[in-house]
Amino acid sequence: MLTFTNKINKIRTFALVLIFAGIVIMYGGLFFQANPLVMTIFMLIGFLAIIASTVIYFWIGMLSSKAVQVTCPECSKPTKMLGRVDACMHCNEPLTLDPALEGEEFDESYNSKRKSRK
Ligand SMILES: [Zn+2]
Repeated sequence: MLTFTNKINKIRTFALVLIFAGIVIMYGGLFFQANPLVMTIFMLIGFLAIIASTVIYFWIGMLSSKAVQVTCPECSKPTKMLGRVDACMHCNEPLTLDPALEGEEFDESYNSKRKSRK
């Protein structure tokens, strides 16, 4: 039912997947030892994936220092949210910073400036 998850968690998961993908790709390169060019390409792609995930981790660190810390009304744990609407990190309870959106149907599009109401 709830497919929406906390944005910080989502990006963190993506970075983690990217690290594993990078390792798998580099490992895959070992099967092409007979062909140094293919192996180098595999190693390079894997290396770039790991570098990219490091950058994402760094970016997440900056984002989470700027994120608003709130206490979730559902599980009363502290959570961090990005944008006007986000989900709780622990229970995925939809949260909003905008009182005008309180009690509204949860919609990720509220984060876009274009759709927001005055
Ligand atoms: Zn919660």
